[in-house]
Amino acid sequence: MSDSAVNPTLSDQETTATLTNPTLVLNCGSSSIKYALISEDESTRITGLAENLGLDTARIKHNTLDGRKLEIAIAGGRHELALQKILELLEQYHFVAVGHRVVHGGREYSEAVRVNEHVLSEVKRLKVLAPLHNPANALGIEAVQAIYPEIPQVVVFDTAFHQTMPPVAFLYPLPKSLYADHKIRRYGFHGTSHAYVSERASQITDAKGPHGWLTAHLGNGCSATAVYDGKSLDTSMGLTPLEGLMMGTRSGDVDPSLHMHLKRQLGLSLEEIDKMLNNESGLLGISGLSNDLRTIEEAANEGHKDAQLAIEMFCYRVGKYLASLSCALPDFTGIVFTGGIGENSKTTRARILDVMRHFGIKFDADKNASLVGGSEGSFHSDDSSIELWVVPTDEECRIAQETRQALGIA
Ligand code: AMP
Repeated sequence: MSDSAVNPTLSDQETTATLTNPTLVLNCGSSSIKYALISEDESTRITGLAENLGLDTARIKHNTLDGRKLEIAIAGGRHELALQKILELLEQYHFVAVGHRVVHGGREYSEAVRVNEHVLSEVKRLKVLAPLHNPANALGIEAVQAIYPEIPQVVVFDTAFHQTMPPVAFLYPLPKSLYADHKIRRYGFHGTSHAYVSERASQITDAKGPHGWLTAHLGNGCSATAVYDGKSLDTSMGLTPLEGLMMGTRSGDVDPSLHMHLKRQLGLSLEEIDKMLNNESGLLGISGLSNDLRTIEEAANEGHKDAQLAIEMFCYRVGKYLASLSCALPDFTGIVFTGGIGENSKTTRARILDVMRHFGIKFDADKNASLVGGSEGSFHSDDSSIELWVVPTDEECRIAQETRQALGIA
């Protein structure tokens, strides 16, 4: 361990024995790196987050195995340095594999794959479809390769779970050559989350299968998916993670002519419009306050009109999308809520279901209120037409599972 700021104590080393054959899961973003070291039996994990990368305030927040919190400053805020320090922190646990969350897998990948030269070059090439994410994901792969060339690495694509969508759902009504020659189609994202929570719901429900779930991943990024018998049949995000629901800072669906109109009327460039739709819209754009629902809910309770409108629009758009996605399901078992908002905001869940009032959905208000802070459970009434579940997502666990499967060590 080369860095003096990183100084694991004896108690960290004492507990090493409980973290058997762990898999390291890395989620390298443009300004942050989330990581989790997960034991083979999934019972134990070490987690952490490097944040503010690219800035002088960059730091790693590391949670040790025995529950202590360490903070390590990253001088200069470089991605490579942060990764190097994360690997140093975890080296003592002898991880056997590394699984990377990679945002875009294009048309080629329908499942997790072991990293080789071709896979790495594909991750880099797909920068054209995910300019913010794929280059950072590639950096993570290369950092591990440089330090531990012998440790097998696997990439788990956010898009892979949605490769089961039929053409009727994944094609845009555009000239067909755009798909054939340029792979312009709907890909869908948040795949590991939708896969994890739909599989979990199918494990815990008493309903006879095959099950048809609408999974609503509502966090800072939001998407909804129709999952039937474990397969994604349609989803709200498209070519990029901008399509679909209203999100923290992303607009979701807008008129495709908006770009042309804004360019002509306001003289905005394509780059300016792209930035506006991705970073300045959604809950932030309407509330004028924040992209964080907690802040907006507080303001709304104090009578802030735009905060109230932002919440109303958010719920209306989720409800409208869920209603339309239900058309993809041969059979509608229920809705599964997940993500920071889906797992915590009882009022958001209630408002979304109110938008879907024609569906005969009935729920127990007390049960809904009790499902916060990472608890899992159902809240539908006995006479409800469909089931309602809150399932906390665990993308890291799913990535670790898929990594072990891809390497044949499951
Ligand atoms: P995520 O991207 O999944 O971490 O979710 C982030 C979003 O979840 C933010 O909009 C948060 O405001 C929201 N969130 C987290 N906890 C709560 C809570 N207790 N009540 C309402 N929203 C929450």
